[in-house]
Amino acid sequence: MSDLRELYQQVILDHNKSPHNFHAIEPCEHEANGYNPLCGDTVHVYMTLEGDTIEDISFQGEGCAISKASASMMTQALKGKTIEAAKSLCDKFQAMVTCGLPAPGKLAVFAGVHEYPMRVKCATLAWHTMKAAIDGKKNPATTE
Ligand code: ZN
Repeated sequence: MSDLRELYQQVILDHNKSPHNFHAIEPCEHEANGYNPLCGDTVHVYMTLEGDTIEDISFQGEGCAISKASASMMTQALKGKTIEAAKSLCDKFQAMVTCGLPAPGKLAVFAGVHEYPMRVKCATLAWHTMKAAIDGKKNPATTE
């Protein structure tokens, strides 16, 4: 179990304790719900777009430390980015947590997740939900 300490790095614990952009945006044109049945994590992503740029992004939800920290750091990473850049970063994040490929910047703290397959969906939930919010999907996003 000592390896878990490496996975739950301090930065993840900090984001879990004091998540950034943890609030609703009202009114909101782009929003989506996400649910990870494996762990019971839920997330709701709110997004406002200015043209094809993410003007503001926030989330609410309940879940494990990894799901919450991932959503918190995602909102930080994506604010002010274009939709294209957001989707590309999503692909890189997915590749990192599933295959261990390096990801840019602070998101690298999640690199250890790929060694814990049960946790991959916790880390990617917010990102799946973010994509659903961009596409304006009404149905809840799931990690399945
Ligand atoms: Zn979880």
